[in-house]
Amino acid sequence: MGRLAEIWDGWKNFFFPDKEIKILSKKRMEICANCEHASKTVYLHCDKCGCYIPAKARSKDSNCPVGLW
Ligand code: SF4
Repeated sequence: MGRLAEIWDGWKNFFFPDKEIKILSKKRMEICANCEHASKTVYLHCDKCGCYIPAKARSKDSNCPVGLW
């Protein structure tokens, strides 16, 4: 899946999550919450990839850029 498709998937699942996405994103968000690369400057984003974390965590095929999920 390309990066644009991953971004689309993340935002689609942000607004219309199914049960699997809710479980997956909860696990990922817990990891991000304790990560030094999570930044709350302006919006909650990853300073490694620049993505909005709540949407990235809901994109099934996306990966953490430093391999934490
Ligand atoms: S995606 Fe990875 S590097 Fe970015 S904030 Fe989450 S755990 Fe940290």
